[in-house]
Amino acid sequence: MKRMIAFLSALPVIFAACFFGGCEKKVSYRSYSFFSMDTLITVKIDPSFPDCDTVFEKCREITEEVRLLYDADDPDSLLSRFNRGESDGSGLALLSLSETVSEATGGAFFPGLRDVIEGWREAEKSGVLPQKKEGARVPYKAGMRNADLGGIAKGEAEQRVVEYLKDSGVGYGVISFGGNIAVFGTKPDGKPFSVGIRDPYDTSGVICTVSLDSGYVSVSGGYERYYEIDGERYHHIIDPATYFPAEGGLDSVAVITKDADNAGALGDALATAFFVAGESAARELYASGTFDFEAVFISGGEVRSTPGTVAATD
Ligand code: ADP
Ligand code: MG
Repeated sequence: MKRMIAFLSALPVIFAACFFGGCEKKVSYRSYSFFSMDTLITVKIDPSFPDCDTVFEKCREITEEVRLLYDADDPDSLLSRFNRGESDGSGLALLSLSETVSEATGGAFFPGLRDVIEGWREAEKSGVLPQKKEGARVPYKAGMRNADLGGIAKGEAEQRVVEYLKDSGVGYGVISFGGNIAVFGTKPDGKPFSVGIRDPYDTSGVICTVSLDSGYVSVSGGYERYYEIDGERYHHIIDPATYFPAEGGLDSVAVITKDADNAGALGDALATAFFVAGESAARELYASGTFDFEAVFISGGEVRSTPGTVAATD
């Protein structure tokens, strides 16, 4: 009874707290979007940060710096110079990370497909399908020219942006680089971030959410980008064994990386690799402990995840 009275007398206080926003604190952001690296980039940060505009401008500059290193479509990038034999690749740190991921995924991640990608673009213009290759996957080596780092460079840029924001003292933020999302910091409501994974069957919606304190969620899916030839769609993730769109059995895959070295780039590369290699290969790599990651696999309308993460579907 005593407790009941104590509770009743506290009610107005609880009510007042809710009414004035104490119970359901809505988390707000200042948001800035720009287009770079062939995708829409959105940076959302704690609006109480004193100089959001300066920070936003710097995020754009950092992204541009990474693009100038790794954009194979820009003849002036360091990667294009490397591809033409005008650079030995020093300064292109992603080449060696690519080699590591390629090795670990049996060549499923193979960023040496520049001419194949150009072939698909040509095919889109001419309407004639490229030649299918018959062969096996082999790992990429860092010295190989003909490089295209489209499967890893966005994750790298994203991580550099996140690290800059943290170093600048920004309290919390959500950054999205197309399909790659990063979260960091502590929100005013103290809860973890809830990151939505796009529904590959209805790309206007979300199929599940992943709860995350900080880290990177990198998604690869066949619905993202494609070449259209003779009314047919051919998606942009290529199986290095066939030079045709990968058929790894997944409709999309999300990779979650937190504390790994190069977490942003690693997650991006692994997502691309798993889309090619499929779920069982991904689970094998998970069990081996080679890299620190979790993953969410989407196929046949189902959502499954590795033991360390929960993808909520409601
Ligand atoms: P997105 O670029 O849409 O975020 P991904 O991260 O999955 O998607 O990267 C796909 C890009 O990676 C392609 O557009 C191409 O530039 C490159 N790519 C295609 N196939 C492979 C592959 N097997 N390994 C590495 N990179 C690839
Ligand atoms: Mg990728």
